[in-house]
Amino acid sequence: MNLCSTCVENTKYVQRLERYGKRGRCAFNPNHTGAVQSVYWFTQFLDRDFRAAYEHGEEYPIMPFDGDRPDFDHYGETLFAAVMNFLVCNQDLAKTIAAELIDQEPSHSKSGSCFYADDVMYELKRDADARRAEESRDYHESYGSGT
Ligand SMILES: [Zn+2]
Repeated sequence: MNLCSTCVENTKYVQRLERYGKRGRCAFNPNHTGAVQSVYWFTQFLDRDFRAAYEHGEEYPIMPFDGDRPDFDHYGETLFAAVMNFLVCNQDLAKTIAAELIDQEPSHSKSGSCFYADDVMYELKRDADARRAEESRDYHESYGSGT
C-alpha cells in the first residue's frame, strides 16, 4: 500500500517522498500524482521523528462536582489525531499510519511499556515543556517566598 507526496502537507515529508519516492499509484486518492512510497517504509522513517517530537500525555486530576475522588484525564491527543496533525494529512492515511506504528512497535516482545498504543495520549514535547514551565511559574507565584 502506497502513500504519495500529495497526501501530506508537512514539508519535510513532502520533500522526502519526492526525493525517495517512485512513480506509482497512491492508495489514498486515485487522483494524486505525487511520488509514492510504501506505508511500511514511510512509517519506519516517521517513527524516529515522532518519538523525538512526542511524549505520552501526563495524567491530571479533574475536579469532580461531588464525591471524594477526582477523575483523571490526560494531556494530549490520540495517536491517530497526533499523526494527522504531525503530517497534516487526511483521516484515512492517519488511521493507516497509526495502525502501522502500533504494528511496528519493536518492544512488543520485550518487557516494558510500548510507546505506541491505542489507549495512550500523545503530547508534543515542546507543548508539554511549555505547560510545565507555566505551571512551575504559577506555583512559585502562588506559593513563593513572597518577596
Ligand atoms: Zn496521495
